[in-house]
Amino acid sequence: MEYVSGPIWSPQGFWRGHIGFEDGVIVEVGKGRAKENVAEGIILPTFVNAHTHIVDYVVPVDLSLSLAEVVAPPDGLKYRVLGQTPLEKQRRAVSYISECMLRKGISAFSDFREGGVEGSAVLSSAQGARPFIMGKTRRPRFDKEEVLEILKVADGIGPSAISDWDYEELRELADLVRSKGKAFALHCSERVREDLDKVLDLEPSYLIHMCQATDGDLEVCAQEGIPIVVCPRSNMFFGMPTPLRRMIEAGVVVALGTDNAMISFPDMFIEMEFAGRLLRSQGMSRLDCVMSMATANGRKIINESPLIEFDPGSPCDLMVVREHGGDPVTDVILRTAGQDPLLVCAGRERRGLP
Ligand SMILES: [Zn+2]
Repeated sequence: MEYVSGPIWSPQGFWRGHIGFEDGVIVEVGKGRAKENVAEGIILPTFVNAHTHIVDYVVPVDLSLSLAEVVAPPDGLKYRVLGQTPLEKQRRAVSYISECMLRKGISAFSDFREGGVEGSAVLSSAQGARPFIMGKTRRPRFDKEEVLEILKVADGIGPSAISDWDYEELRELADLVRSKGKAFALHCSERVREDLDKVLDLEPSYLIHMCQATDGDLEVCAQEGIPIVVCPRSNMFFGMPTPLRRMIEAGVVVALGTDNAMISFPDMFIEMEFAGRLLRSQGMSRLDCVMSMATANGRKIINESPLIEFDPGSPCDLMVVREHGGDPVTDVILRTAGQDPLLVCAGRERRGLP
């Protein structure tokens, strides 16, 4: 059996102890330091990157373009470039990025994937972090046969936004996806505020962005238990404010994602640091919520239980990062980006130490 020791994360706060594991499963958990350790430092659950478009890694950055000119279907820059990129090159990007993510402690990511059935299938080339695939129809039109084909390879469907669709067709899409027990989620109120009643009538599993949300919108999301995924680096790049403090104070379940890979490399430590700095600039004095955004709340987005307990018998999904002598929360959020975790274990997958 192997051991790691240090401050261990729990939803109630950090406590000092050790974890013993073998064959991808936690075997022993206890107080105090183990005698021999493969790694010592702050022990965290692996992260879930709750919103990505990782194949966008192949798209070049053009600072002269607006949000719509980059990401709006069907003629935005990303759609033009992706349309001309051979599937083999897209698969290589998936393989590389998913490996980078696992090395940075991300065990799973929820990816909004363009390109219909073929586009969703490209994500099966992931070799490190595990994809939760949110497919998309080739055009913003309801085509039952196409949706059923996509759902054979995808975990759900993620249309771009309500404003790109005929509403009745979008309702048909949402009904079909839910009837198959799959996830349905969409971007909402990123650049302009959209009609939240109409969006929530589609019964989405969660929403992404909500930069332009009113306090009333956020209260409704909190009351109805609709999680919001925020991508603050992406929002800042496109000049959109992320009302993160207002979301937290409204009681919304907030998860964290890195969005389009051409503008934000999918490294959750960087996104967490950015979210932490943003919250501090918005007057928050504690950053514990950022830990939940990257761990428990992200698991809700991929339909996993948010109850992360390091208990004997649980899969060994953990990582160890360096201590810097301060509060472990601030050590993780403000002082870890730029460094690799000492050890990452996602079940039997392992990165870092030999
Ligand atoms: Zn997105």
